[in-house]
Amino acid sequence: MVHWSLRRQNSWVQLAGHEGNFKASERGHILKKFSPVENACLVTLMDDALRPFVPTYHGLVERDEQTYIKMEDLLMGLEGPSIMDCKMGFRTYLEEELAKALLKPTPRKDLYNKMVSVDPMAPSEEEHLQKAVTKPRYMQWRETVSSTAALGFRIEGATIEGGPVKKDFKQMKNRQKIMETFVTFTKGQKEILAAYLDRLESMERVLEESVFFRTHEVIGSSLLFVHDRRGFSNVWMIDFGKTSPAPSHITLRHDVFWVPGSHEDGYLLGLRNLIDTIRDTMNS
Ligand code: ATP
Ligand code: MG
Ligand code: MG
Repeated sequence: MVHWSLRRQNSWVQLAGHEGNFKASERGHILKKFSPVENACLVTLMDDALRPFVPTYHGLVERDEQTYIKMEDLLMGLEGPSIMDCKMGFRTYLEEELAKALLKPTPRKDLYNKMVSVDPMAPSEEEHLQKAVTKPRYMQWRETVSSTAALGFRIEGATIEGGPVKKDFKQMKNRQKIMETFVTFTKGQKEILAAYLDRLESMERVLEESVFFRTHEVIGSSLLFVHDRRGFSNVWMIDFGKTSPAPSHITLRHDVFWVPGSHEDGYLLGLRNLIDTIRDTMNS
């Protein structure tokens, strides 16, 4: 049956998150473990200018006593898809997560060890002496290891034509290396890079008009790049698990840097950096 062979072609590929968070659904749909925050975003987005840039929301379903969000499978119909997940913004933790960490700034040895395993030079003299770092210090340092703190986006994972999933980009902060990754990812196909650019530029225009965007702090959300062997390509906004309404007196700009209390995420700055990086890749 055609139905089945198509279904097998579209086997699930996941570049980030816990595997248990997702379940297969009928053709064309996927199930993601329910979160009230993400659900509220998707509901609002269905009536927003951004709707063409997010997976279509199909309500909630129950499976094995667990509630799931049912949404469009963005890989549906792709042949040997290449996929990349780029996490957006200059900050990937919520203001309240930092505030909570600041309430209990006990120096922690486990976080010191994690820090040293990535960069033995990262701790200060005092932190080396104590062999411990506080959680807020660790959270802010972690953003500087990848391109998040400098460019406002980072590559989380990628797979090329159904090959192995690569997730070892977390320490990639160099713009040149990111450009090389885009060349590898697209196999240097300029038409694909041009199509990605086009889509991101229209996304930028719509973001500037979107009521959802103006009123939400977008944290830990990703752009999912997909293209396939036949030359199909698209970019989608996904993962709204940490995207929340800003306090009602604040209209967010997204094109300024964050200061504690501003709720700004720098999403547009990151998007513009990403657009420039892809444009330079195409012209290189
Ligand atoms: P994390 O918060 O750690 O990033 P998560 O559990 O919130 O993970 P997502 O980031 O939403 O999960 O998705 C993880 C991965 O699953 C994405 O990188 C992508 O590969 C895949 N994915 C998510 N949503 C879709 C979709 N609608 N269609 C196709 N693939 C998807
Ligand atoms: Mg994610
Ligand atoms: Mg998430």
